[in-house]
Amino acid sequence: MRPSARVPSRITIAGSGFASLFFLIYLLEDPPFLPLPGPVRRIRSCLDITLIGPHEFVYFPAIPEFLIGARTPRDIVVDIRPFLRRRGIRFLEDRIANITDGGRTVVTAQNISYANDALFLGTGPTFRKDAIPGTREFTYSPCYGPDDMVRFATHLDSLTEGVIYIGFAINKDDDFVAGRTGPLYECACLLDFALRRRGVRQNFEIHFFSPHRAVGEKGALTDRLVERGIIMDDGYGPATFVAGGMTDHDGHFRRADAILYSPPMTGPLYASTAALPRTPGGHIAVDRYGQVPGLTRVLAAGDCAGHEASPPWVPHQAHMAKLRAKAAAANLRQILGGASPSHRYRHELSCILDMADDALWMHRSEDGRPPFHNLFPRRSRRLISVKSTFEKAFLLYLRRL
Ligand SMILES: Cc1cc2nc3c(=O)[nH]c(=O)nc-3n(C[C@H](O)[C@H](O)[C@H](O)COP(=O)(O)OP(=O)(O)OC[C@H]3O[C@@H](n4cnc5c(N)ncnc54)[C@H](O)[C@@H]3O)c2cc1C
Repeated sequence: MRPSARVPSRITIAGSGFASLFFLIYLLEDPPFLPLPGPVRRIRSCLDITLIGPHEFVYFPAIPEFLIGARTPRDIVVDIRPFLRRRGIRFLEDRIANITDGGRTVVTAQNISYANDALFLGTGPTFRKDAIPGTREFTYSPCYGPDDMVRFATHLDSLTEGVIYIGFAINKDDDFVAGRTGPLYECACLLDFALRRRGVRQNFEIHFFSPHRAVGEKGALTDRLVERGIIMDDGYGPATFVAGGMTDHDGHFRRADAILYSPPMTGPLYASTAALPRTPGGHIAVDRYGQVPGLTRVLAAGDCAGHEASPPWVPHQAHMAKLRAKAAAANLRQILGGASPSHRYRHELSCILDMADDALWMHRSEDGRPPFHNLFPRRSRRLISVKSTFEKAFLLYLRRL
């Protein structure tokens, strides 16, 4: 159903990441390979859309590959302004700081107010960098974007021997995986590969830690780490990160020449300023249609949002952000057309773990449906090119179409 063509609805989209861009793409219902001029798209969609966020889109799933020199920031960061211009979308380089009038007004960090008829929030995760003292000062993370990963890779290149710790923590207050797990396993395997390629692997200890891994935990991911000689410090959570390492809860010091760490994830700060309904873990609460309960025509998807009644294995992923944004866009079109939302999203974990000389397709879905009708093997080095094909296709679409 299409919204009324007489008065275009004013839609505000917050964020320039996967959730927001997929939401926009599905909302416009554009034929992907038939580029139309911006004004035509605008009239066709009957929508007056404004996107508020940074002008750069970051393709986070490729960041671990910095470790083996297969990607650089230039490869994975896209200026989205031409993409938005081609679609007749107004762009504001700013950040949402507050939401008032039951969602009808957003106030930005520059203290400018914008009115809307419908609001989509896709502002991504907030990492709890203060959960462990010293996280900001003494750890690197692939989760903060390309620059931090470049600093980590540069530091590694300066070492000829040492002890490297790689780990993650999860926000356990929500009933889904609010932490980056897969990418940290991937980083551990790629680091092992990079050091072996340099011929210095024997001079390094790589430790993998997480307070949320059970001692002696088994599984396909664990097996890949163990077969690479990575030391599993299961159940270990440092009390403090300090210069040259970390301290345990009993004060014991562990030396580390570099620490790559993903803190637990939560929702955005503006959610509390705006008094949005939140999950126990601090994510924006949404129902299975992507709507924020108690607010009219306010939807959210991606890593900023919680889940209603999800299975406990559901992760924050670009893949999930896409499924959720697609349902939210279809629901918003129904709502603007005067109907009730009817599109729910599937819970599905799907990602290819690139280990440079091997790859795994990690997959789980609530209905047991396999990825791509089981067209691809679940373990094969060839999956690396499948992963990079998804990346290239999406980035080409953003850059050129
Ligand atoms: C190293 C790494 C590897 C990964 N690998 C995979 C993988 O293989 N497969 C997979 O599916 N997922 C993977 N992920 C997860 C995936 O990248 C995220 O789940 C995905 O980026 C979430 O999309 P999002 O749009 O919710 O958030 P983001 O992509 O983080 O986008 C959020 C956007 O909102 C902007 N923003 C933030 N605050 C505000 C504000 N107040 N106002 C306006 N804008 C704001 C941000 O700047 C950004 O533009 C990986 C993540 C990392 C870090």
